[in-house]
Amino acid sequence: MKIKDLYTPGRTVFSLEVFPPNKNFPIETVYDAIEGLAAINPAYISVTYGAGGNRANRSTCEIASHIKKKYGIEAMAHLTCINSTRDDVDFMLDDFAANGIENILALRGDNKPDEEPKNDFPHASDLTAYIASKGNFDIAGACYPETHVDAESAEEDIKNLKIKVDAGASHLVSQLFFDNSCYYDFEKRARAAGIDVPIAAGIMPVTNKKQIERMVTLCGASLPSKFVKMMQKYENDPEALRSAGIAYAIDQIVDLISNDVQGIHLYAMNNPAVASRIYNGIKDLL
Ligand code: FAD
Repeated sequence: MKIKDLYTPGRTVFSLEVFPPNKNFPIETVYDAIEGLAAINPAYISVTYGAGGNRANRSTCEIASHIKKKYGIEAMAHLTCINSTRDDVDFMLDDFAANGIENILALRGDNKPDEEPKNDFPHASDLTAYIASKGNFDIAGACYPETHVDAESAEEDIKNLKIKVDAGASHLVSQLFFDNSCYYDFEKRARAAGIDVPIAAGIMPVTNKKQIERMVTLCGASLPSKFVKMMQKYENDPEALRSAGIAYAIDQIVDLISNDVQGIHLYAMNNPAVASRIYNGIKDLL
C-alpha cells in the first residue's frame, strides 16, 4: 500500500520509526523491538538508512521487508543519496522492489567530513525525481520546522522543500521539535508556499540525558523553558526523567492532534516500552 493513501481528511496517521542496530549487534536485536512496536499496530513503520551508501549493508531493506511480511504493517525504507552513485541507487531500488517495499523516504543524508560526496544526486529532490521516474514507489521527503542547518534562510529552505514536493514527494515527515509553535509556524509557511501534501510531525520522546545532548547538538531544536526545567529537575533521576519525557511527548501530541495535524511520526528509538506508554496516552484521540 502507498502511504499517501493512508491520509484521509479528519484522521491523524500515527507512525513509528526504527533504526537498524549498529554493526556490533545482530539484526535480531531490532526484531525484538519490532515485536513490541508491532503490537501498537501503527499505520506504518519507517526504517532509517546509513548515510554511507554501502550496497553490502542491506539491513534497511531486510528490516522493512520483515515488518511487512511478518506483521502485515506497511513499511517505509529511508534511502540517502549523498554518498551514492546512480548505480548504487539502482541497486537499492531493485532490492526494495524485489522485497515488496513500495514506500521510500528519499533523503540527501548528512555530509561526512571524511568522505567526498558523490555528485549524482546533490539534493534529496534529485533523488526524489529519479525514484519518481521509475514509477513504482510512493516517495516521502523530510522537512524542517526550524529550518535545515545548511539552509541560507528559512525562506530558501521552504523554496527547496517545494522543489522536492514538485519532484514527486507525496507526503512529508518533519524533523523532531519540542516547541509546537515552531511546527505551526512552519506549516503555515509551507502552505503559503503552495506545499499541499500531508505533513507528519516528528516527535522524539526524550528519556535520558545523553539523548537530549546528542539530538539537540545534531538538529538544533529549540528548547522551551518548560522542557529545560523538566530536564534540569530530573536529570539525575533516570526513572523520573523517563516518565517526564513521556509525559512531555504525550502533551505535545495531544496539542498537535487538537490542532488537526495530519500525521504523528514517533521516533520510537527501538524502545517498545516507551512507545507503548505514549501510544496508550493518545490512542483514543486517533
Ligand atoms: P535536502 O532536502 O537535500 O536538503 C538539505 C539542504 O539542502 C537544505 O538546507 C535545503 O534547503 C537544501 N536544498 C535542498 N534542495 C535544494 C536545491 N534543489 N537547491 C539548493 N539547495 C537545496 N539521515 C540519514 O543518514 N539516514 C536516515 O535514515 C535519515 N532519516 C531522516 C528522517 C527524517 C524524518 C529527517 C527529518 C531526517 C533524516 N535524516 C536521515 C537526516 C537527513 O539526512 C539530514 O537532515 C540531511 O542533512 C538532509 O537531508 P534532506 O533529505 O532533508 O536533504
